[in-house]
Amino acid sequence: MENTKTTNFIREIIDEHLRTNRFGQKVHTRFPPEPNGYLHIGHAKAICISFGIARDYNGLCNLRMDDTNPEKEEVEYVNSIIEDVRWLGFDWQERLFYASDYFDKIYECALQLIRTGKAYVCDLDGDRIREYRGTIKAPGKNSPDRDRSVEDNLSLFERMRKGEFPDGSRTLRAKIDMSSPHIIMRDPVIYRIKHDHHHRTLDKWCVYPMYDFAHCISDSIEGITHSICTLEFENNRPLYDWILDNLGIHHPQQIEFARLNLSHTVLSKRKLLQLVEEKLVEGWDDPRMPTISGFRRRGYTPLAIRNFCDEIGVSKIDSIIEMAVLENSIREELNKTAPRAMAVLRPVKVVITNYPEGKTEELDAVNNPEDPSAGTRKVTFGRELYIEKDDFKEVPPPKFFRLSPGKEVRLRYAYFVKCTDCIKDPKTGEVTEIHCTYDPATRGGDAPDGRKVKATIHWVSAGHAVDGEVRIYEPLFTKRDPDDVPEGSDFRKKP
Ligand code: ATP
Ligand code: MG
Repeated sequence: MENTKTTNFIREIIDEHLRTNRFGQKVHTRFPPEPNGYLHIGHAKAICISFGIARDYNGLCNLRMDDTNPEKEEVEYVNSIIEDVRWLGFDWQERLFYASDYFDKIYECALQLIRTGKAYVCDLDGDRIREYRGTIKAPGKNSPDRDRSVEDNLSLFERMRKGEFPDGSRTLRAKIDMSSPHIIMRDPVIYRIKHDHHHRTLDKWCVYPMYDFAHCISDSIEGITHSICTLEFENNRPLYDWILDNLGIHHPQQIEFARLNLSHTVLSKRKLLQLVEEKLVEGWDDPRMPTISGFRRRGYTPLAIRNFCDEIGVSKIDSIIEMAVLENSIREELNKTAPRAMAVLRPVKVVITNYPEGKTEELDAVNNPEDPSAGTRKVTFGRELYIEKDDFKEVPPPKFFRLSPGKEVRLRYAYFVKCTDCIKDPKTGEVTEIHCTYDPATRGGDAPDGRKVKATIHWVSAGHAVDGEVRIYEPLFTKRDPDDVPEGSDFRKKP
């Protein structure tokens, strides 16, 4: 999968732009996370798409912190994002940017719109703005402030910036069309008053640009050619285009794709934050979390995640990908790369009654059956071993081919053994010890007389095994689609 330049609708658009020289021969993308949470597997998809395109087209991809909302953003998130994108294997060189670094320029753009009569200061509060906006069926109404003079608008906006007005009392709105079929075009708010401390600009600003205003201008400032985002921004595209056209500045092409939904988990940052804050998980990097840091802690590799993202592809249709597809991706990689070891999780003792007491021997075990270059290792065999409890049944059910009285199995890399009897706890009836005999002629695991066994089981030597901690994770949600709960009920409750 890696590096195969499989095409998709985004790449077809780029190919066409290259053919027509829309942006010359340049391809420049960006990944713009909002630092208000840790990155999850959905972000990994977006990262692989934008960085992958830059890689395959010899272009560039920026990492940009979309930090225009002072409330929810934290340095911890910025740091985790940097770590996770790098860990995934992508490089933005020196192009790590912050939307907040553009606040001066974005403010200038707002002034420009005011001066050209395309933005005005509006005194309606949030509720009134909503009320005036109309609905899909009914057009909106003009704000009473829509026809303020340029001078008044400039002076009011300046006073907003200076902190003369309380939060929410005034906004700056783009003057577009209150009857537009695109509700987003009905004079959207582009600046709001927020007397909030920002993690980078500190207390310099008390007016902040809205996402739609800041985002397209940031793309433009960075010379982005293809601004790739998820489908929910499709509705915002007319506004993205309007702002850039009316400012007359470099105009990237926005392209939307369907976001990743994964079964048995949620991918909304709001919900993930809830799990963290309510301590339902250990933290953002809890191995059961669908975050990149969670998968990393769980033992996933960057390649497995990148392969998964390539495999699921890019489309415009929403769907839920099974968690099993992701699990298969890591299994496939580890199968090729991970050195094997034998471990017994729920042990029961086996005594080989015809094996000399005190004797041990070293047997050769293959380190990775998928990779001969991984070589072999020595494992110690002796009279007393542990096997998995589940690998023995005193009364075997049909089709149970592992160990049971009178049956012969192979101990991996060792010998054929045949069960003679077992000892049970008189109170509980639980099997505490299994007795077997071994066939010395089957050393290494093959019978010279060609006889076959139907099962091979793993084992450890009781006298040589070391204790280990094994962590077994179950999915965090039992339900396939935890987001699918009736109105008013809680995604965290058991179905
Ligand atoms: P949420 O909706 O949970 O708050 P978000 O989309 O607002 O998440 P951002 O930090 O703004 O999170 O996302 C950065 C980029 O990652 C955006 O371009 C967004 O489209 C993309 N992205 C977010 N979630 C997914 C997803 N599930 N699948 C693919 N891309 C995603
Ligand atoms: Mg977002």
